[in-house]
Amino acid sequence: MNPQDKDIVIILQCAIVKERCGGYFCEAALEKREGAFTPYPADKHLRHINLTCGGCCGRASLRKISNYLHQLKKREDISRDKVVVHLSTCMTKPSYHGPKCPHLDYIKELLSRLEMDIVEDTKIGNKAQKKRDEGIYK
Ligand code: SF4
Ligand code: SF4
Repeated sequence: MNPQDKDIVIILQCAIVKERCGGYFCEAALEKREGAFTPYPADKHLRHINLTCGGCCGRASLRKISNYLHQLKKREDISRDKVVVHLSTCMTKPSYHGPKCPHLDYIKELLSRLEMDIVEDTKIGNKAQKKRDEGIYK
């Protein structure tokens, strides 16, 4: 994937975590080009949307993103190669909210059908990473 080519970022978030989390740290990381968003050009405006996986087992991810891509193409003639999906860190790694998503591999397999760029992680917080390194977050 070439980050320079992307115009739109979809942040896919855990539906359970989103019952509590407003998504601030994901959005701020994108805005500041931190964590997994570091490779995107700082001087380029990136359009973005947040979606949840829809709840366990995450199967709604495919139809939600598929619908978004369909509308984007139909109404604005923007193709999926301009779009990247980021799986939020609370899905991909153990964190304050709990262990990583037990359906992560299934969600990745689902999204592979979209034949588009999928990136793991969003915000990488220093405190959480320290606890992962120390084995506190397993
Ligand atoms: S990574 Fe953090 S900010 Fe983003 S959805 Fe998960 S808990 Fe919320
Ligand atoms: S499938 Fe994973 S990411 Fe989605 S709600 Fe369940 S635990 Fe969260």
